[in-house]
Amino acid sequence: MTDRTLLLQTFDALLQPERFRDYGPNGLQVEGVARVRKIVSGVTASRALIEAAIAAQADTIFVHHGLFWKGQDARVTGWMKQRLKLLLAHDINLLAYHLPLDAHPELGNNAQLGLQLGLQAQARFGEQELGFIGERLESGGFESADDLALHLENTLNRPVTLVNSAQKAIKKIAWCSGGAQSYFEAAIAAGADAFITGEISEPQAHLARECGVAYLACGHHASERYGAPAVAAHVASQLGLAHEFIDIDNPA
Ligand SMILES: [Zn+2]
Repeated sequence: MTDRTLLLQTFDALLQPERFRDYGPNGLQVEGVARVRKIVSGVTASRALIEAAIAAQADTIFVHHGLFWKGQDARVTGWMKQRLKLLLAHDINLLAYHLPLDAHPELGNNAQLGLQLGLQAQARFGEQELGFIGERLESGGFESADDLALHLENTLNRPVTLVNSAQKAIKKIAWCSGGAQSYFEAAIAAGADAFITGEISEPQAHLARECGVAYLACGHHASERYGAPAVAAHVASQLGLAHEFIDIDNPA
């Protein structure tokens, strides 16, 4: 068991939220009990995750996508009321870290996605240096973008959207988890043969064809489900807390 303030300080020291310009508040978003014992980590503070955390007898939830974003409707109605009601009724702390969780060099979403895929980061690119670029650890790369797509599908266990499967070898691979469509041009400028992210929008398909760089969209959720459990497990073991990752499946 530990104190909520110490828990928050430990996450802040690890993730350094003050270094980022973000879309919502990082850290404690909803205050629960002062003495914490068990963390449930997950990707998004959805009602399903909150209910699962309650069933798992957690007093703290640690997520990548919290409840509050800049510019959102500030009223507590509908789904927001339902989520907050559950958290407050069960005195659960909600901690959310967005960009700081993407960026952490060993435990963050991008680092952990690279680890899953067997990619070794050599440099960072793009706004706030959130993008990672590097090469495959073993066997020097992939024979083609189709090969890389197959590797992604097998590793993440879901279909992947591939644009531009020109039959050229893939050596330099750039990746940025989640909805990082806008990082594609920076990845091209950084010299990538292929770019992996969660989502694709209409313009990127044309850019992929015209610039000869493969674009692979492997799912926002699927690309961001490794950082939260890695960070939460690290902090939980540091402070002697229980931890459990709960994956609420999401096809998007
Ligand atoms: Zn995300």
